[in-house]
Amino acid sequence: MNLYWTLIAITLIGQVIYVLVGLKPAPAFTVPEQMGYLIFPCSLFLLLIMIVAEVWLRADFRFQKQVVIGCGFLVSYLLYFLAEPYVDGAQMALMIPVMASLVYFDLRMLYGLGVLNLFLYAGIYFGLERRLLEKPLPEFLMVECIFIVFVVMARGVIGRAYETNEYLEQLTQSEQGLLVERAVSDKLLKIDALTGLYNHKTFHEYLDSLLEQGEKNGLQLQLALFDIDNFKQVNDTYGHWIGDIVLKEVAAKIGGTISLNDFAARYGGEEFAIIFTDKSLEDAYALAEVLRSGIAGMVHPYAGGKPITVSIGLCPYRAGDGKELLFRRTDEALYQAKRSGKNRVTTAGENQLVLV
Ligand code: GH3
Ligand code: MG
Ligand code: MG
Repeated sequence: MNLYWTLIAITLIGQVIYVLVGLKPAPAFTVPEQMGYLIFPCSLFLLLIMIVAEVWLRADFRFQKQVVIGCGFLVSYLLYFLAEPYVDGAQMALMIPVMASLVYFDLRMLYGLGVLNLFLYAGIYFGLERRLLEKPLPEFLMVECIFIVFVVMARGVIGRAYETNEYLEQLTQSEQGLLVERAVSDKLLKIDALTGLYNHKTFHEYLDSLLEQGEKNGLQLQLALFDIDNFKQVNDTYGHWIGDIVLKEVAAKIGGTISLNDFAARYGGEEFAIIFTDKSLEDAYALAEVLRSGIAGMVHPYAGGKPITVSIGLCPYRAGDGKELLFRRTDEALYQAKRSGKNRVTTAGENQLVLV
């Protein structure tokens, strides 16, 4: 539409300059008298078409392509009609709608408009130009040939655009495939294959960054270490395969019970670790207790139906302690829990809450 407006503006400015300077245009041909009177209504009609098209495009976007092309058709033929007696090669204005099909990369539209143009120009030539302006036949043939050559070239451009588009689509698809693969391998690197919880390495990375934040922002943080009680016995009695099932079930219980702010990992063997964040020690303790009793209440018919329990050591992080001390204190709490009879939660050091 902007291109149309530009062409119309140039034509109108040309007309105004001619009127202001008082020049009489020198037509290339003998223009019939009555044609001069048509220039003003023709320009007016041009503006009207453009305004109608602009209003349509703003009100309803559904037939955008058709409106732009249709408007281009009318504009190009009116411009041609205005300019033809004074400008050599004004027939080229008739290529405007065909060029628009290039903008839309539409092959069918290009062929349709190309053929329509050939017939319309033939009609104009034999109906008007030949009779009124006495234009020679070779000019008509040359213009038609240029139309055909333009359509063939535009076809080449659209063909290349299709190829490029296809190539880009393939590229996007393979890039998407790579992204999915990377996401999967990223996940595999972070997750423990047996339990689906985070692995030891990811746990430490996460804890490091949390401790850093904790030191900076005073974020509340507690570490819990879980150890399944008498697990060797489960393995020895029912086999490692059953032991694995128990590990999976305990992990699922942990993963399903912790809150969104907490982070659970398989620390190693039959040991799990949880980082509680944004909780008071009492709340973390209560959640650890829920986990302990929940695990003890699980039924394992394939493992003799006997309850499987865990001992938990819980330790709040004290600013300035560092990771090593946090682990030592948590381990100590876990050791306490084991020593004092297993199947219990014990908190570390002077903050010891309960010893069940
Ligand atoms: P405690 O109550 O003192 O913790 O006794 P426990 O038997 O649980 O302790 P111990 O450390 O002696 O045994 C841990 C066992 O966990 C030994 C090992 O075979 C088993 N284990 C470690 N990883 C796996 C695993 O991936 N699958 C299975 N099935 N067993 C595992
Ligand atoms: Mg152990
Ligand atoms: Mg154990």
